[in-house]
Amino acid sequence: MNEYASQIMAHVKAKNPAEPEFHQAVLEVLDSISLVLERKPQYRKAKMLERITEPERVLMFRVPWQDDKGNYQVNRGFRIEMNSAIGPYKGGLRLHPTVNLGILKFLAFEQVFKNALTTLPMGGGKGGSDFDPKGKSDDEVMRFCQSFMSELFRHIGPNTDVPAGDIGVGGREIGYMFGQYKRLKDEFTGILTGKGLNWGGSLIRPEATGYGAVYFAEEMLKTRNENLKGKIALVSGSGNVAQYTVEKLNQLGAKPVTLSDSSGFIYDADGVSAEKLAFVMDLKEVRRGRIKEYADKFKSAKYTPVDPNRDHNPLWDIKAQCAFPSATQNEVNLKDATNLVKNGVYVVSEGANMPSTADATKYFLEHKILYGPAKAANLGGVAVSGLEMSQNSLRLQWTREEVDERLHNIMISSHKTCFETAKEYGTPGNLVNGANIGGFLKVANSMLDQGLV
Ligand code: NAP
Repeated sequence: MNEYASQIMAHVKAKNPAEPEFHQAVLEVLDSISLVLERKPQYRKAKMLERITEPERVLMFRVPWQDDKGNYQVNRGFRIEMNSAIGPYKGGLRLHPTVNLGILKFLAFEQVFKNALTTLPMGGGKGGSDFDPKGKSDDEVMRFCQSFMSELFRHIGPNTDVPAGDIGVGGREIGYMFGQYKRLKDEFTGILTGKGLNWGGSLIRPEATGYGAVYFAEEMLKTRNENLKGKIALVSGSGNVAQYTVEKLNQLGAKPVTLSDSSGFIYDADGVSAEKLAFVMDLKEVRRGRIKEYADKFKSAKYTPVDPNRDHNPLWDIKAQCAFPSATQNEVNLKDATNLVKNGVYVVSEGANMPSTADATKYFLEHKILYGPAKAANLGGVAVSGLEMSQNSLRLQWTREEVDERLHNIMISSHKTCFETAKEYGTPGNLVNGANIGGFLKVANSMLDQGLV
């Protein structure tokens, strides 16, 4: 790592203690852009690394709400407005008990570079709360979302900050939050994306992240004159990203064989077909049940519960050619990466954010597999969120085909930028460097243009 970059890394660690995920995300980017700093000393003079690792604004607030029994509850809400050099802050809201400042800062930091790669004018942000929607009634979720928005509404706007969904935030939560914003501001504007189709949403938004991760895998395979037909794919998670990854894999002739949630995973050697996926969608989106029920329903599947004491996840120890981690951060460790490669996996396209630990990423790069890092491979979701914003400004709704074609072209362009940038900076095939450098150059040059702000 370049000397300026290591100096900043030490500074980030000292200034942001107890935020390991944020350190991990910054370290990966600084490692890649060391290659740029050698060539372009102007960034050091402009204190670019100090500025880019410091959020423009961090909001942290109390979210009080009342449960169905009449008890008062208090959660913590956050919004990290990381960087607005190329557009309004944009990034999801996560509702999960593990949410804390460090995790949201890592996500917001990643979002800055990811959004730059979409080709659309969006800055980076992220937010959420440690509220756990699991086991809560619709009314409880509504009361929480209304209380959350009762503070957040002051800080967002169609030209300022436009949040979206993430873990634990789907159509239901976006609806409750949008309703509350409209009531408080007396204004119908596109302040959230992932909205319902009847009230400003975009076709293909729910599908976008999963479809995009599969399109990205297809682009990687093209560089070896191959495609997804007949390939066996491991998918983790069973939420939004995982479901539409499975849908697109089936459409392109691949065979997805696993799905998971935080309790365990299913392995279905016959494949998670379109019909079985319909069951999963109903299970997860309507009945809000656990993935174990898949194995109760389909005899071709075996369920394995998660053992938190195990040093690896057996989901990643199954023979396959492709893997699509689509659940959460650091879900693939070094042992998992070793198992994947040992079992024949040579395509990894990350649907989740930072699902591979730093040493797992290094292992994939050293073994020269086709490795699509999250920033580039999962940007389909935020890209279609950007297209939702465009449609809201035009007061129009594009067709499914039109949005899907734009999404597909954005994924092709994301891969091309990463592939060519990696080559230009002397590390051909290293899409981690390609994504980090490609995103950084756009943001850093815009910051230079705009002066010291
Ligand atoms: P989601 O619909 O809430 O689904 C999340 C899935 O991951 C669930 O199956 C969940 O299982 C599982 N999961 C969550 N935390 C876990 C943990 N600590 N250990 C094991 N499993 C866990 O969320 P999503 O939108 O699909 O997001 C999944 C990932 O994709 C996240 O990393 C998110 O940041 C990333 N991402 C999402 C989008 C988007 O458009 N939605 C865009 C870009 C990136 P449980 O139900 O048991 O918790």
